[in-house]
Amino acid sequence: MSELLKVEHLHKEFDKNVVIKDMDLTVKKGEVVVIIGPSGCGKSTFLRCLNGLEEIQGGSITVDGSLVEPKKKDIIKIRQKVGMVFQSYELFPHKTVLDNIILAPMKVQKRNKAEVTKEALELLEKVGLSEKKNFYPRQLSGGQKQRVAIVRALCMHPEVLLFDEVTAALDPEMVHEVLETMIELAKSGSTMLIVTHEMAFARAIADRIVFLDQGEIVEETDKVKEFFDHPQTERAQKFLKTFTFDE
Ligand code: ADP
Ligand code: MG
Repeated sequence: MSELLKVEHLHKEFDKNVVIKDMDLTVKKGEVVVIIGPSGCGKSTFLRCLNGLEEIQGGSITVDGSLVEPKKKDIIKIRQKVGMVFQSYELFPHKTVLDNIILAPMKVQKRNKAEVTKEALELLEKVGLSEKKNFYPRQLSGGQKQRVAIVRALCMHPEVLLFDEVTAALDPEMVHEVLETMIELAKSGSTMLIVTHEMAFARAIADRIVFLDQGEIVEETDKVKEFFDHPQTERAQKFLKTFTFDE
Protein backbone atom coordinates (compact mmCIF):
# COMPACT_ATOMS: atom_id res chain seq x y z
CA MET A 1 0.00 0.00 0.00
CA SER A 2 1.27 3.44 -0.86
CA GLU A 3 1.33 6.52 1.36
CA LEU A 4 -1.52 8.82 0.54
CA LEU A 5 -1.31 11.30 3.36
CA LYS A 6 1.84 12.36 5.11
CA VAL A 7 1.97 14.77 8.03
CA GLU A 8 5.39 15.77 9.31
CA HIS A 9 6.17 17.90 12.34
CA LEU A 10 2.82 19.65 12.14
CA HIS A 11 2.58 22.68 14.39
CA LYS A 12 -0.61 24.68 14.78
CA GLU A 13 -1.41 27.48 17.16
CA PHE A 14 -4.15 30.04 17.65
CA ASP A 15 -2.66 33.29 19.03
CA LYS A 16 0.22 31.50 20.74
CA ASN A 17 -2.11 28.80 22.09
CA VAL A 18 -0.41 25.67 20.76
CA VAL A 19 -3.07 23.21 19.62
CA ILE A 20 -1.05 20.69 17.57
CA LYS A 21 2.51 19.93 18.65
CA ASP A 22 5.07 18.43 16.31
CA MET A 23 2.70 15.82 14.95
CA ASP A 24 3.66 13.07 12.51
CA LEU A 25 1.14 10.79 10.83
CA THR A 26 1.15 8.71 7.68
CA VAL A 27 -1.95 7.18 6.16
CA LYS A 28 -1.85 4.59 3.41
CA LYS A 29 -4.33 4.16 0.62
CA GLY A 30 -7.34 2.19 1.83
CA GLU A 31 -6.52 2.63 5.51
CA VAL A 32 -9.14 3.63 8.09
CA VAL A 33 -7.62 5.67 10.91
CA VAL A 34 -9.78 6.58 13.88
CA ILE A 35 -8.72 9.56 15.99
CA ILE A 36 -10.00 9.69 19.54
CA GLY A 37 -9.24 11.91 22.49
CA PRO A 38 -10.77 14.26 25.03
CA SER A 39 -12.73 17.34 24.04
CA GLY A 40 -10.45 20.24 23.14
CA CYS A 41 -7.40 18.06 22.41
CA GLY A 42 -7.19 19.26 18.80
CA LYS A 43 -9.03 16.62 16.77
CA SER A 44 -11.16 19.02 14.71
CA THR A 45 -8.29 21.43 14.22
CA PHE A 46 -6.13 18.58 12.96
CA LEU A 47 -8.73 17.51 10.37
CA ARG A 48 -9.23 21.12 9.32
CA CYS A 49 -5.49 21.48 8.74
CA LEU A 50 -5.54 18.40 6.50
CA ASN A 51 -8.25 19.94 4.39
CA GLY A 52 -6.49 23.29 4.07
CA LEU A 53 -9.10 25.06 6.18
CA GLU A 54 -6.51 26.23 8.70
CA GLU A 55 -3.17 27.91 8.27
CA ILE A 56 -0.36 25.99 9.90
CA GLN A 57 2.66 27.47 11.66
CA GLY A 58 5.10 24.65 11.08
CA GLY A 59 5.68 21.29 9.48
CA SER A 60 4.08 19.97 6.32
CA ILE A 61 1.09 18.06 5.03
CA THR A 62 1.15 16.24 1.71
CA VAL A 63 -1.77 14.51 0.06
CA ASP A 64 -0.94 12.23 -2.81
CA GLY A 65 2.34 14.10 -3.25
CA SER A 66 0.85 17.62 -3.25
CA LEU A 67 1.60 20.02 -0.43
CA VAL A 68 -1.44 21.37 1.43
CA GLU A 69 -0.95 25.12 1.73
CA PRO A 70 -4.06 27.12 2.59
CA LYS A 71 -2.86 30.28 0.89
CA LYS A 72 -2.05 28.74 -2.43
CA LYS A 73 -4.35 28.81 -5.39
CA ASP A 74 -4.43 25.06 -5.73
CA ILE A 75 -6.27 24.65 -2.46
CA ILE A 76 -9.26 23.85 -4.66
CA LYS A 77 -7.34 20.85 -5.95
CA ILE A 78 -6.58 19.73 -2.40
CA ARG A 79 -10.24 20.02 -1.40
CA GLN A 80 -11.08 17.71 -4.28
CA LYS A 81 -8.59 15.17 -3.01
CA VAL A 82 -9.61 15.55 0.62
CA GLY A 83 -13.34 15.40 1.30
CA MET A 84 -14.75 16.36 4.67
CA VAL A 85 -18.02 15.61 6.43
CA PHE A 86 -18.94 17.70 9.47
CA GLN A 87 -21.22 17.27 12.45
CA SER A 88 -23.47 20.04 11.12
CA TYR A 89 -24.01 18.63 7.56
CA GLU A 90 -23.62 22.06 5.92
CA LEU A 91 -26.14 21.36 3.18
CA PHE A 92 -27.58 24.29 1.25
CA PRO A 93 -31.10 24.77 2.70
CA HIS A 94 -32.64 26.17 -0.48
CA LYS A 95 -31.37 23.37 -2.73
CA THR A 96 -32.79 19.90 -3.11
CA VAL A 97 -30.88 16.80 -2.06
CA LEU A 98 -29.87 16.10 -5.66
CA ASP A 99 -28.80 19.69 -6.33
CA ASN A 100 -26.75 19.75 -3.14
CA ILE A 101 -24.86 16.70 -4.36
CA ILE A 102 -24.24 17.67 -7.98
CA LEU A 103 -23.34 21.33 -7.40
CA ALA A 104 -19.63 21.02 -6.64
CA PRO A 105 -18.83 18.29 -9.17
CA MET A 106 -20.40 20.51 -11.86
CA LYS A 107 -19.06 23.90 -10.71
CA VAL A 108 -15.65 22.92 -9.40
CA GLN A 109 -14.84 19.85 -11.44
CA LYS A 110 -16.71 21.03 -14.55
CA ARG A 111 -18.31 17.66 -14.97
CA ASN A 112 -21.26 16.98 -17.20
CA LYS A 113 -24.64 17.31 -15.50
CA ALA A 114 -26.11 14.07 -16.82
CA GLU A 115 -23.08 12.06 -15.78
CA VAL A 116 -22.92 13.57 -12.28
CA THR A 117 -26.67 13.16 -11.81
CA LYS A 118 -26.44 9.51 -12.74
CA GLU A 119 -23.67 8.97 -10.22
CA ALA A 120 -25.50 10.96 -7.52
CA LEU A 121 -28.61 8.83 -7.98
CA GLU A 122 -26.58 5.63 -7.75
CA LEU A 123 -24.96 6.82 -4.52
CA LEU A 124 -28.33 7.88 -3.08
CA GLU A 125 -29.65 4.44 -3.89
CA LYS A 126 -26.75 2.86 -2.00
CA VAL A 127 -27.56 4.83 1.15
CA GLY A 128 -31.29 4.19 0.80
CA LEU A 129 -32.32 7.73 -0.07
CA SER A 130 -33.38 7.56 -3.73
CA GLU A 131 -36.91 8.63 -2.96
CA LYS A 132 -35.65 11.78 -1.22
CA LYS A 133 -33.78 13.20 -4.20
CA ASN A 134 -36.18 16.12 -4.68
CA PHE A 135 -36.62 16.87 -0.98
CA TYR A 136 -35.10 19.89 0.74
CA PRO A 137 -32.80 19.41 3.74
CA ARG A 138 -35.45 20.65 6.19
CA GLN A 139 -37.70 17.77 5.09
CA LEU A 140 -35.13 15.17 6.15
CA SER A 141 -34.16 13.68 9.50
CA GLY A 142 -30.69 14.34 10.89
CA GLY A 143 -29.52 10.89 9.91
CA GLN A 144 -30.80 11.35 6.37
CA LYS A 145 -29.13 14.76 6.07
CA GLN A 146 -25.87 13.29 7.23
CA ARG A 147 -26.07 10.50 4.65
CA VAL A 148 -26.71 13.13 1.97
CA ALA A 149 -23.63 15.02 3.19
CA ILE A 150 -21.59 11.82 2.88
CA VAL A 151 -22.88 11.20 -0.65
CA ARG A 152 -22.06 14.79 -1.54
CA ALA A 153 -18.47 14.29 -0.38
CA LEU A 154 -18.20 10.97 -2.25
CA CYS A 155 -19.45 12.43 -5.50
CA MET A 156 -16.27 14.53 -5.68
CA HIS A 157 -14.19 11.31 -5.80
CA PRO A 158 -11.83 12.35 -3.02
CA GLU A 159 -8.70 10.34 -2.28
CA VAL A 160 -9.23 10.72 1.45
CA LEU A 161 -12.42 11.30 3.43
CA LEU A 162 -12.39 13.09 6.79
CA PHE A 163 -15.25 12.68 9.23
CA ASP A 164 -15.54 14.97 12.24
CA GLU A 165 -17.96 13.58 14.83
CA VAL A 166 -20.61 13.11 12.18
CA THR A 167 -23.03 11.37 14.52
CA ALA A 168 -22.59 13.70 17.51
CA ALA A 169 -25.67 15.80 16.75
CA LEU A 170 -27.96 12.89 15.86
CA ASP A 171 -30.69 11.26 17.89
CA PRO A 172 -29.54 7.84 19.08
CA GLU A 173 -31.80 5.91 16.70
CA MET A 174 -30.22 7.68 13.73
CA VAL A 175 -26.62 7.12 14.68
CA HIS A 176 -26.70 3.55 13.46
CA GLU A 177 -27.73 4.31 9.86
CA VAL A 178 -24.89 6.79 9.46
CA LEU A 179 -22.29 4.49 11.01
CA GLU A 180 -23.49 1.67 8.73
CA THR A 181 -22.90 3.90 5.71
CA MET A 182 -19.35 4.57 6.90
CA ILE A 183 -18.69 0.88 7.50
CA GLU A 184 -19.80 0.16 3.93
CA LEU A 185 -17.41 2.83 2.66
CA ALA A 186 -14.56 1.34 4.63
CA LYS A 187 -15.32 -2.10 3.19
CA SER A 188 -15.25 -0.69 -0.33
CA GLY A 189 -11.65 0.44 0.23
CA SER A 190 -12.06 4.16 0.94
CA THR A 191 -9.23 5.88 2.79
CA MET A 192 -10.77 7.47 5.86
CA LEU A 193 -9.80 9.53 8.88
CA ILE A 194 -12.55 9.47 11.44
CA VAL A 195 -12.96 11.48 14.63
CA THR A 196 -15.61 9.87 16.81
CA HIS A 197 -16.78 9.33 20.35
CA GLU A 198 -18.54 6.10 19.38
CA MET A 199 -16.06 3.65 20.83
CA ALA A 200 -17.74 0.41 19.73
CA PHE A 201 -17.83 1.79 16.20
CA ALA A 202 -14.18 2.90 16.43
CA ARG A 203 -13.21 -0.57 17.49
CA ALA A 204 -15.17 -2.15 14.63
CA ILE A 205 -14.03 0.10 11.79
CA ALA A 206 -10.45 1.13 12.62
CA ASP A 207 -7.35 -0.30 11.01
CA ARG A 208 -5.46 1.97 13.33
CA ILE A 209 -6.25 4.04 16.40
CA VAL A 210 -4.64 7.37 17.13
CA PHE A 211 -5.18 8.65 20.65
CA LEU A 212 -4.65 12.38 20.91
CA ASP A 213 -4.27 14.43 24.07
CA GLN A 214 -3.32 18.11 24.32
CA GLY A 215 -2.29 18.27 20.69
CA GLU A 216 -0.01 15.26 20.76
CA ILE A 217 -0.30 11.66 19.70
CA VAL A 218 -0.05 9.80 22.98
CA GLU A 219 -0.76 6.34 21.67
CA GLU A 220 -0.98 4.96 18.14
CA THR A 221 -1.53 1.34 17.22
CA ASP A 222 -2.89 -1.04 14.61
CA LYS A 223 -3.67 -3.54 17.37
CA VAL A 224 -7.11 -2.06 17.77
CA LYS A 225 -8.74 -4.63 20.03
CA GLU A 226 -5.71 -4.65 22.32
CA PHE A 227 -5.85 -0.88 22.53
CA PHE A 228 -9.43 -0.92 23.79
CA ASP A 229 -8.85 -3.85 26.15
CA HIS A 230 -5.46 -2.75 27.46
CA PRO A 231 -4.40 0.78 26.54
CA GLN A 232 -0.70 1.23 27.20
CA THR A 233 -0.65 4.79 28.48
CA GLU A 234 -2.23 6.11 31.62
CA ARG A 235 -3.87 8.94 29.70
CA ALA A 236 -5.59 6.54 27.30
CA GLN A 237 -6.68 4.34 30.20
CA LYS A 238 -8.19 7.33 31.94
CA PHE A 239 -9.93 8.48 28.77
CA LEU A 240 -11.42 5.08 27.94
CA LYS A 241 -12.72 4.69 31.50
CA THR A 242 -15.13 7.54 30.82
CA PHE A 243 -16.98 5.33 28.31
CA THR A 244 -19.23 2.43 29.11
CA PHE A 245 -19.11 -0.48 26.71
CA ASP A 246 -22.08 -2.56 25.71
CA GLU A 247 -19.92 -5.38 24.45
P1 ADP B 1 -11.50 18.89 19.64
O1 ADP B 1 -12.07 18.79 18.26
O2 ADP B 1 -10.54 17.80 19.97
O3 ADP B 1 -12.56 19.02 20.69
P2 ADP B 1 -10.54 21.47 18.73
O4 ADP B 1 -9.63 21.15 17.61
O5 ADP B 1 -11.89 21.96 18.38
O6 ADP B 1 -10.63 20.23 19.72
O7 ADP B 1 -9.87 22.57 19.63
C1 ADP B 1 -8.55 22.45 20.13
C2 ADP B 1 -8.16 23.73 20.84
O8 ADP B 1 -8.05 24.78 19.89
C3 ADP B 1 -9.16 24.18 21.88
O9 ADP B 1 -8.44 24.70 22.97
C4 ADP B 1 -9.92 25.26 21.18
O10 ADP B 1 -10.40 26.20 22.09
C5 ADP B 1 -8.87 25.86 20.25
N1 ADP B 1 -9.45 26.41 19.03
C6 ADP B 1 -10.12 25.72 18.06
N2 ADP B 1 -10.49 26.51 17.06
C7 ADP B 1 -10.08 27.77 17.39
C8 ADP B 1 -10.15 29.05 16.75
N3 ADP B 1 -10.75 29.21 15.56
N4 ADP B 1 -9.60 30.10 17.38
C9 ADP B 1 -8.99 29.95 18.56
N5 ADP B 1 -8.87 28.78 19.22
C10 ADP B 1 -9.40 27.70 18.65
MG1 MG C 1 -14.04 18.66 17.58
